This record gives sequence, structure tokens and C-alpha cells, in this order.
Amino acid sequence: MQINVSQQLKASIGSMRNYKMSEIIDIIGEGGSLVQGEVRLMRTHRGILAKANLHTEVKVTCSRCLGLFSCPLVLNFEDEYFPTTDVVSGVSLPLPEEPGCFTIDEHHTLDLTEAIRQYALLAIPMKPLCRQDCAGLCPHCGYNLNQGACDCLPQEADPRWSELSKLALAEREGTE
Ligand SMILES: [Zn+2]
Ligand SMILES: [Zn+2]
Repeated sequence: MQINVSQQLKASIGSMRNYKMSEIIDIIGEGGSLVQGEVRLMRTHRGILAKANLHTEVKVTCSRCLGLFSCPLVLNFEDEYFPTTDVVSGVSLPLPEEPGCFTIDEHHTLDLTEAIRQYALLAIPMKPLCRQDCAGLCPHCGYNLNQGACDCLPQEADPRWSELSKLALAEREGTE
């Protein structure tokens, strides 16, 4: 998402502009995700503060049943963008010494795409679930238990394990 901010860079500090956004952005390298929402830009003394309230969906694999599903993501973030070129004189500007800071290019274009991509990647859960009560796969035959029961016999808990877990419990209680 690219916004030309040359007018806003000439405006007084604190001036705001709002943008509605609806754009396909490639987040995890497969096709792209429709990103929608609002972006508010505010002129600061150093550049432009972008405040985004966006939402999108990415296709991810469920960590339990391995099925592909659309995972909704909410992206609320705020970043300051620094101009690389003075909007009036056209002179190159020194950048602040903050590593990885976002910049406005020499054509005064503020590009939110990279920030959106980064925040979206952070928002994807480490262990995505297609639904909170996903039943997962049968450990014996691999059947997707969300589609019903498989033909495996119900597994009795191995009595040796329950003895062990009793021991472990006793040990834990003993140390507390
Ligand atoms: Zn699942
Ligand atoms: Zn099974």
C-alpha cells in the first residue's frame, strides 16, 4: 500500500489524514491476502506517524489436523516513517540512527506493504488451530477425527503409564 505524502510533509505538525485500505498483499508467499481497514497518517516533527487498524486472512496449516484453513489476523500497529528527501528543497536527508526504521522514498511515497507483511507474520499463531476444539488426527491410522470417529478400537490407557504418572505425581508432591 503506497501513499504519496508530499502534501502532508508540507503540512503543519499534527495534521492528520485518513485512508481506507483494501489491497491484496503477498504475506506468506502464496497468492496474496486481501488486507482491509483504515490507516491514519499524522505529520510529526521528524516525519509521518502511520497508525494502522487492519485485518486480513492467511491460509495456514492446522497444527493438529494438518488441514489448510483461513486464519483471520488483526493488525493494529503504529510506526514512524522518515523522509529521505526534503519535500521542498529536494535535498537528501540524514536518517535517524534507528536500525530498521521505515522510510519515505525520494518520490515522497510512504509504502506500508513491508510493515503490514512483518506484522502479519508476527500475528500468525505458532500453533494454528482450524478451530479451538479441533479433534486432530488419529495417532494410529491418521484419520481426520473432525470428520467422525475412525475404525481403530478405543485405546485403553496402558496401565504401566498410569503407574508411572502416579509415581511422578508423588515425586512432585514430595518436592513441594
Ligand atoms: Zn484442525
Ligand atoms: Zn484411527
